[in-house]
Amino acid sequence: MTELVKIALKSPSNKCFRCNSELILVKTWVETSGTGKFPQKITIYRCSNDACQKEKDKEEEKRKKSLEEKEQRMEENAKKRAALKLINSKLRDSKLKESKLKENKKK
Ligand SMILES: [Zn+2]
Repeated sequence: MTELVKIALKSPSNKCFRCNSELILVKTWVETSGTGKFPQKITIYRCSNDACQKEKDKEEEKRKKSLEEKEQRMEENAKKRAALKLINSKLRDSKLKESKLKENKKK
């Protein structure tokens, strides 16, 4: 066991919210990208209870999957919107041509 993990295990606040087992610090890093403007310290823990951690992994997988699906939907919607925009601009163009033709006929 590394020093880092030993420290994490000693900390009383690092308890699993689910099974109250000790949490093991996996890694920490600082992230500035994302929603917040301020650097955010991100800490990843895993539960020392293997069964509990497996459940968490499953949930994480589900969460990732649904997030991917959401992104896919958003991408599809963006494509649809882009296609609609193209159609609209084409319609506008043809209407513009039509009105110009009418103007020319008037002359
Ligand atoms: Zn747990």
